[in-house]
Amino acid sequence: MAESVKVAVRCRPFNSREKARNAKLIIDMNGNTTTISDPEAPNEEPRKFNFDYSYWSHDGYTVPATDDGYLEASNKKYCDQKRVFEDLGRGVLANAWQGYNSCLFAYGQTGSGKSYSMVGYGENKGIVPIFCDKIFQEIDQKKSEGTKAEYEVSYSMLEIYNEQVRDLLNPASKKKGGLKIREHPKKGFYVESLRQTPVQSYVEIQARMDEGVRNRTVAATQMNATSSRAHTIMSIIFTQKSVNDAGQEMAKTSVANLVDLAGSERAESTGATGDRLKEGAAINQSLSSLGNVISALADKSKGKNVKVPFRDSALTKLLKNALGGNSKTIMVAALSPADINYDETLSTLRYADRAKQIKTIAVVNEDPTE
Ligand code: ADP
Ligand code: MG
Repeated sequence: MAESVKVAVRCRPFNSREKARNAKLIIDMNGNTTTISDPEAPNEEPRKFNFDYSYWSHDGYTVPATDDGYLEASNKKYCDQKRVFEDLGRGVLANAWQGYNSCLFAYGQTGSGKSYSMVGYGENKGIVPIFCDKIFQEIDQKKSEGTKAEYEVSYSMLEIYNEQVRDLLNPASKKKGGLKIREHPKKGFYVESLRQTPVQSYVEIQARMDEGVRNRTVAATQMNATSSRAHTIMSIIFTQKSVNDAGQEMAKTSVANLVDLAGSERAESTGATGDRLKEGAAINQSLSSLGNVISALADKSKGKNVKVPFRDSALTKLLKNALGGNSKTIMVAALSPADINYDETLSTLRYADRAKQIKTIAVVNEDPTE
C-alpha cells in the first residue's frame, strides 16, 4: 500500500540573537494548521499550511499547571521531546520490529532546531537516543519472556560534506577523499566499506553516537558557531532471526535512517565568503537535489510521468530508498519563530508542503538466512 510521507513542523523558542534584535513572533499553530505572517505586510492574511503534526515548542515550557486558568490554551502548550518521540519515533520503532525500513529526516535553516529534535541536548534527549533506548528495552523484554528469536543491532554513522561521504565511526576514511557510493541491483545505493558496528546495549550505542559526533566536520558560520555544515545520517540496522514452521531460519532486517540535514539557508544569508561559500554551494547542491527529487516525486504521485533525479547528489542517492521506494518516511521541518527569518522559514514551510505529497511503498524485508 502506498503511504504518504508524514510531515511534522516544530517551532522553537526565540534564541538569544533573536531576543537581542527584539524579534517578533510570526508563527502560529492551531490544530494541524501552521500560519506565518509576512512582517513586511502585517495587514495581509497570514499564509496557512497543514501538516500531519504541528509542534508548538516556542513557549509555555515553564508555565506551571495550576487550577486558576494560568495554563495557556492547549494548542499553545509546549510540545516536549517525549511528545515528539511518541508521535514520530514510536512508529519508527514499530516499523523496525515489523521489518520495515524507515527514514526520519530533519530539515530547516541552521539554528532552527533540527539537531534538538533528532539528537537533543543533555537531558533533553531527542528521537534517536530515545529510539535506541527503547529498542534495547524491548529486546530485553522479549528475552525475559523466553523468546527463541535472536536479535542483532548495529549502528553506522556517516556525513556528507562537500559531496564526499565520510564514515564517522572510522575517521581514517576522511583522508582518502571520502567513501564511494555504489549501487546494488536489489538493495539500491549504499556506501562501500562503511563501518556497521554491532552494539549490545543502549550504553554502547550512545558511546558510538558520541564518538561519531566528535568526528563530525564542524565549521563555524556567523549564524551558528557550533552547527555542522554537513548532512549526518545515523542508521540503526535491526535483524531478527527465528525459525519458521517449516524449520527454516528466517531473518527479518530493517534499517532506520535518521538524517540531520545541513542548514537549508542560502549561502549569502549566512555571511559566508571564500571557502565557506564554496562549501555552502556544495551543501546546497545536495539540498537542492533533494528539493528537485521531492518536487519530481510529488509530480509523480499526481500521475505525471517525470524522471526523478536521484543520481544528482550523494544525499539523494542515499535517500533514494527512503523517498522513492521501500521505506516509511517522516520529515520534521524545524522553524524559527522570528520575523528576521521570515524568508527562510517560508521556504522551509513550502519545502515541507511539497514533501507531504510523496508516496512510498514499504515492504517487509524477510529472507531465509544463508
Ligand atoms: P540546528 O540543528 O537546526 O542548527 P539546534 O537543534 O542546534 O539547531 O537548535 C538551536 C538552538 O535552539 C539550540 O540551543 C537548541 O537547544 C534550541 N532549540 C531548538 N529547538 C528547541 C525546542 N524545540 N525547544 C527548546 N529549545 C530548542
Ligand atoms: Mg544541528
